[in-house]
Amino acid sequence: MGLTDVDDPEAVMRRRRLLADQVGFDLDRALLTVQEHGANVVTFHRRQPEGGQCVFTTDALATDVPGQAVVTYHADCFPVLFADRARGVVAGAHAGWRGALAGVATRTVQALHLAYSSAPEELDVLIGPGICARCYQVGSEVAEQFPARYGREDRYLQGERGEIRLDIAALLRLQLEDEGVQPERIQAAGWCTKEEDRWFSHRGDRPGRFLSVVVAPLTSA
Ligand SMILES: [Zn+2]
Repeated sequence: MGLTDVDDPEAVMRRRRLLADQVGFDLDRALLTVQEHGANVVTFHRRQPEGGQCVFTTDALATDVPGQAVVTYHADCFPVLFADRARGVVAGAHAGWRGALAGVATRTVQALHLAYSSAPEELDVLIGPGICARCYQVGSEVAEQFPARYGREDRYLQGERGEIRLDIAALLRLQLEDEGVQPERIQAAGWCTKEEDRWFSHRGDRPGRFLSVVVAPLTSA
């Protein structure tokens, strides 16, 4: 579903359109990302709706425009999808280790509060498929940056010196809880993109990208 390093971009566009038709969203009005492993969040508003499809260099997008879709791309990095049903707000974020370190999940919760007055305790969050801790060994130069910033490394670092594994999904959960999202309203898919060959995986040597989509409801609850 991604356009990076593909031989046939037209085929990608056809697949995206087919998916949009099947899921039932308007691709021509969707918000799409060009991801940079950061924590920037772009918000869209029904008061100032944009006409057509928009592509942003960002790792998180949010909208309350009824029926508008937020699309992100993944291959081991996690999709994190947010819904504030009462206000008709949705958001999608992309989080690998860099984005998680930068706090993309934290920033998205904060952006939803600022832009739409979404209360963190009223958010439902889905952490989608991504690389699991068993499969995600990191160097100490990467690992040591997390406790310095977030503490509580027992929740997301495993193993001994020289063989440290990072549990990105667990770190995302910790960040969401720190922002006031209710633990029981955070769901994690628990599907490992490296181990399960139905997913594209950077570390699993299955090049390509799948996409994640969340669509703002047509009417607020
Ligand atoms: Zn795994």
